[in-house]
Amino acid sequence: MQQTAETVWGSCLDFVQDNIQKQAFKTWFMPIVPVKLNGAALSIQVPSKFFYEWIEEHYIKILKVALTKELGDEARLVYIIKMENTYGNKLPFTEKIPSKNRNGIDIQSVDAPLRNHPSELKNPFVIPGIRNLKIESQLNPSYNFENFLEGDSNRLARSAGMAVANRPGGTSFNPLLVFGGVGLGKTHLAHAIGVDIKEKYPEKTVLYISAEKFTQQYIEAIKKNNRNDFIHFYQLIDVLIIDDVQFFSGKSGTQDVFFHVFNHLHQNGKQVILTSDKAPVDMQDIEQRLLSRFKWGLSAELQRPDYETRVSILKNKLYRDGVELPEEIISYVAKSVKTNIRELEGAIISLIAQSSFNKHEVTLELAKQVVEKFVRNTKREISIDYIQKVVSDYFQMDVTTLQSKTRKRHIVQARQLAMFFAKKFTKSSLANIGNQIGHRDHATVLHACKTVDNLAFTDKQFRKYVEDLTKKLSS
Ligand code: ADP
Ligand code: MG
Repeated sequence: MQQTAETVWGSCLDFVQDNIQKQAFKTWFMPIVPVKLNGAALSIQVPSKFFYEWIEEHYIKILKVALTKELGDEARLVYIIKMENTYGNKLPFTEKIPSKNRNGIDIQSVDAPLRNHPSELKNPFVIPGIRNLKIESQLNPSYNFENFLEGDSNRLARSAGMAVANRPGGTSFNPLLVFGGVGLGKTHLAHAIGVDIKEKYPEKTVLYISAEKFTQQYIEAIKKNNRNDFIHFYQLIDVLIIDDVQFFSGKSGTQDVFFHVFNHLHQNGKQVILTSDKAPVDMQDIEQRLLSRFKWGLSAELQRPDYETRVSILKNKLYRDGVELPEEIISYVAKSVKTNIRELEGAIISLIAQSSFNKHEVTLELAKQVVEKFVRNTKREISIDYIQKVVSDYFQMDVTTLQSKTRKRHIVQARQLAMFFAKKFTKSSLANIGNQIGHRDHATVLHACKTVDNLAFTDKQFRKYVEDLTKKLSS
């Protein structure tokens, strides 16, 4: 039989699959696409430079064995790095590595002049008057890799974080941007990377700071005419971790200063780690030049944990707290609290607290009561006003336009969507919904709900609106 890229790769995969762990296989081999076979050279497409480096580092031996079996001693592997968002469109791997060889720069000589004049530097972390150049990392040691449990939802971000911790500034994931919704572990992971680096490279200056605090410090510095000191201070850092960079939205002064700091660090082979509640493409009011910098490295998403991961996080938490709970209860909590890990921890903590206050055993009955109360309390109340705001923002119109009497098709559609979501997400009556959305009657609202149901079924574009808005409203 004539060999093709597909058949050769297929046989390699069979071999690899038998020899490595299932999860690892899924993560690192499934996304690879065989592209062509040229003599004994097999070209495979990998989703990013990260993949390529990872495979080279961890799996090249086994691949070599597999490939040699298929293609003989001449066998060669050629990587093609895909430059777009891939991986099921879930994890945007953005890849554009600046051409400059960062490792070729003599870091010492760049920083030396600054280091020789510490007295000229003002450290924004130090109370004025006390001169102290040792920079406190502001890291929380209880957020480490060991207690950051691995699951499908975080595997890539976690692995990338570990790779960065092993070689800060020395991988292509610079900056490493970790993004995802609230309570999914961004802050924990960011600290874990810093903590690990501090352990492996005690001489490196690591600094964790929230984007909010960075902004405050910058404003202070401007007030005191210390902008240069501020910049110099940050340029001394070897590993800079900035949490929640979405906070920079609309703050052009801070963005500007961060841009300078970033460029300096990056050019000198220093590592930058950022977290954000959105992917770079969804960030608003962040300057283009900064967004493009974010894309230089790797963007890795933290997703909602699946059931298995939720169970292992709960078990780990209980184990650390020295508490034992029946399996049944753990799985009940894991099934009921799905949105994020912070809530999951909150639920289990209040359950333990309840049982110890009341000296009750934790029964399924108690678990139900606590979780129900807990889930209900933390679920953000969505108001009709909020829905109208989200829908009109989405269609780039004012709320007054959405409510107006016009029959223009796109406005009518937006209004109907608002009514539909008000019905879906609030407990309001049809009459009340109609009243709040431009003084319509209950029949109009009912009609709107039916129309949206129908259109979502028949019209692909419309279905996308419904999906997008559902996502926005339930996040
Ligand atoms: P974010 O910064 O994304 O809002 P956090 O990092 O504050 O989220 O995480 C919320 C809570 O969930 C923290 O207590 C954190 O320790 C815990 N957590 C998040 N991810 C994990 C994980 N993979 N394993 C164990 N605990 C986790
Ligand atoms: Mg956080």
